[in-house]
Amino acid sequence: MGMRVRGLVGGLGVLAFALVAWVVSSMVLGTYLRHDQQRAEATLQLTMQALDGHLRRFQAVPDLLADDPGLRALIGGSRRADQVAAINRWLEGRNVLLESSEIYVMDATGLTIAASNHDARDSFVGQDFSFRPYFTEAMNGGRGRFYALGTTSGVRGYYFASAVYDRGGRAAGVIAVKVDLDAIEAEWRRQSEAILVTDPEGVVFLSTEPEWLYQGFLPLTPDRLARTAALRRYAGMTVGALAHERSTLQGLAVLHLSNADGRRSYLQAKALMPLAGWTVQVLMETGSARAQARLASAAVLLGLGIAVGALVIWAQRRFRLAERIAAQEHAKAELERRVEMRTADLARMNAQIQDEVAERRATEAALRRTQADLVQAGKLAALGQMSAALSHEINQPLAAARNYADSAAILIDRGETAKARENVGQIVALIDRMAAIAQHLRNVARKPDAPLKTVDLAAAVAEALALAEPRLAKITVAVDLPADLPGVLGGPVRLQQVLGNVLSNAADALEDRVFPRIEIAARVEGDRVLLDIRDFGPGVAAAIADRIYDPFFTTKRVGSGLGLGLSISYNIMKDFGGDLRVANHPQGGAVFTLVLRVARARGMAAE
Ligand code: ADP
Repeated sequence: MGMRVRGLVGGLGVLAFALVAWVVSSMVLGTYLRHDQQRAEATLQLTMQALDGHLRRFQAVPDLLADDPGLRALIGGSRRADQVAAINRWLEGRNVLLESSEIYVMDATGLTIAASNHDARDSFVGQDFSFRPYFTEAMNGGRGRFYALGTTSGVRGYYFASAVYDRGGRAAGVIAVKVDLDAIEAEWRRQSEAILVTDPEGVVFLSTEPEWLYQGFLPLTPDRLARTAALRRYAGMTVGALAHERSTLQGLAVLHLSNADGRRSYLQAKALMPLAGWTVQVLMETGSARAQARLASAAVLLGLGIAVGALVIWAQRRFRLAERIAAQEHAKAELERRVEMRTADLARMNAQIQDEVAERRATEAALRRTQADLVQAGKLAALGQMSAALSHEINQPLAAARNYADSAAILIDRGETAKARENVGQIVALIDRMAAIAQHLRNVARKPDAPLKTVDLAAAVAEALALAEPRLAKITVAVDLPADLPGVLGGPVRLQQVLGNVLSNAADALEDRVFPRIEIAARVEGDRVLLDIRDFGPGVAAAIADRIYDPFFTTKRVGSGLGLGLSISYNIMKDFGGDLRVANHPQGGAVFTLVLRVARARGMAAE
């Protein structure tokens, strides 16, 4: 993911979070607000009932008291001082019994003639209450009711009044009961909700918040102010306007008011109290609902955060797992691919190798064919060479023998028999030479399977040197053989022949040397005995080294070598299970080495 995409996702996440927070908080707020609204309504009901009950207790009291004969006598009579005093005491007693604020009696002009507080400093006695609506209402035969701040006492009260009739049935005065409301208000202040009561002009006269008292909710029109002033409802207090605003929250009406602590918002439950014409209001602060909503949304957000965190971790784990699996699969696929590649490579190489093998076989076959051809050609060449050598070897003595025979015939005709006999002797010698050549040729067609025997090498060397004596006459021969040479496998006559050939070749090589010398030495290597025959001749030229064993190969003049010596010798050595090697000595001359097998059991034998 790129940084920008990440940022975008993050931004969207925050936005979604904020949206959820807002929705949750407003839902919770709505719930709490409705709950508080219900509580306010319930409180309102209770408050109304309590207030109504409190006032209702005194509703019939003036009627009952007005019926008192003493009072009627006083009102309708001369109002003697003792009568007034008695009524004063009576009123005082009733007031204590009824737990009302004050009870007092006015004459038809509104002048107070007797009162429960007759002996108090601010007694009502002597006061004129004709301006109060309850007085006029009562004088007119109705039940006077009024709420006001006492002009004399300054104590808020609710006034119930009834006319007192004289014996003639005329309304001669009014008895009024003032009910104290301060106690009720004090009671309300113990509650959490704010409670206030407004009069028909919208002015607050009971309130749990002192700041709101004697303030008008309704616009204070001059009309209203005039009416309030005329009734002297709030005595000397100035009535002001209560600063307030209205709005709605979650579909509920909210009232914004200021008190000593500042501006506050309230849910409002209000109802009209028909008995007094008042409006009772219960105000429930929205603060706690808001706080609870905040708490709830914070809790939800926290939960959501944890859930999202857990989800993210889970998702990450899953992602990593998937990644790992993918990586493993990739690695597996890669491995398989490599194996396949390798297999293909191997197959290709195999095919290549097979091709090469086939090629090599073909080459080999071709080589063999060529070799066979060459052998054939070599054979033909050798045959040619041999034919030339043989024809020379045979033709020369034949021609010579013929000359001798012709001469012998002439000499016999002349009778010179001695000379003729000499010629015949020459002819016999030539025939012997040709027989020797034939003998040589027979050796080429040797019998290789002749059984091997144990041969004493030192004896064989000594014999060979003795046989070659005529050819070695001018040559120094140094023999150095160990005393304990083991017997070797071979045939004595054939070994003799090999030694003769090699010595004869050495003598040929030393032909024009000033100090001709041959060295013969032997050594044992494992189960072999190696016999070196070194000459101090020119050595074997590298160019011909691998051809000197070929039959009929010779570098010697026609007539002096048949090229069969080494060929025969090599084959004899092979027949012995040994070898014939040639090398050039570092200090010059050729070294022919006869390799012979050591015989296991010693035994004397002759071929
Ligand atoms: P020939 O002696 O009839 O030539 P060989 O088979 O005995 O036939 O020898 C083959 C050839 O090997 C000789 O012609 C000569 O060139 C070479 N050769 C043999 N022995 C020696 C030697 N001791 N020194 C140099 N050349 C040698």
